[in-house]
Amino acid sequence: MNGRAWIVVFLSLFLFPYSATAQEELKVFISVDMEGIAGVVVSEECSSSGPDYGYFRRIMSHEANAAVLGAFDAGATEVVVRDSHGSARNILPDLIDPRAKLLRDWSGGPKGMMEGIDESFDAVVFVGYHARAGTADAIIDHTMSGNVMDLSINGQSLPEAGANALIAGHFGVPVVYVAGDQGIVDQVEDLFGSVGTFATKQGIGASSLGLHPEVAQKEIRAGVADAVRSRADFEPFTMTKPYTMVLKLKSEASVYNGSFFPGAQRTGDWELTFSNDNILNVMYAFGVMRR
Ligand SMILES: [Zn+2]
Repeated sequence: MNGRAWIVVFLSLFLFPYSATAQEELKVFISVDMEGIAGVVVSEECSSSGPDYGYFRRIMSHEANAAVLGAFDAGATEVVVRDSHGSARNILPDLIDPRAKLLRDWSGGPKGMMEGIDESFDAVVFVGYHARAGTADAIIDHTMSGNVMDLSINGQSLPEAGANALIAGHFGVPVVYVAGDQGIVDQVEDLFGSVGTFATKQGIGASSLGLHPEVAQKEIRAGVADAVRSRADFEPFTMTKPYTMVLKLKSEASVYNGSFFPGAQRTGDWELTFSNDNILNVMYAFGVMRR
């Protein structure tokens, strides 16, 4: 063996094991709601007591998996799927790519639909999302529950995607892609500025003009892959501290109860105001107040 060959052996022994272990980690967090999934048009279809729930949860699972496949196409090394709707036990586990992990049920903590997120993630994706309560031409528009008329933080009325993006922003993670009805697509484009989006359907009054689920899944896979690849182009969503939440509720019992939350004030007939520097404390207050 000549000197040059020895150099090759040396490089093989030391550099190849190094390059194998130095693969860059890329973690993607996918929060999946159900109202914005292709085809869904009424709450009954998203409720476990509804006769068509089994059919639509299957479409939800395939649509969630389309985002998972897109993330892996873009080089993800770890993907967490957070089931975020109703019982948080909708997605059929065996329809999700075996490389991903699935987070089911509610933890009881303030991260809620974002449970599992932390600073180790690189990108967040929302699938099946819907517009905030009171949106025209939107499908099953609401904000967390039927009791909430409006959630605003620092004067900005927010859909669930906005509040959840603030939780991701707390950990420095940007939302790179949102799929749902046209109503939520318009709202996240206004809120986040730069974000990948895809509308599975367009509301016409309370009706829905939508795409075939397989068409939506194909688009979501490709869109998520593009967005994750260009994740450096997206900023984490944050606001200037303190976060001041103004919450308008329908139930007098909830407004009365919420007024006793430490630091909260009743600021109107249907209105509570709460301010804190930590968005997780604000989300905790929001959870207690809307009961
Ligand atoms: Zn939902």
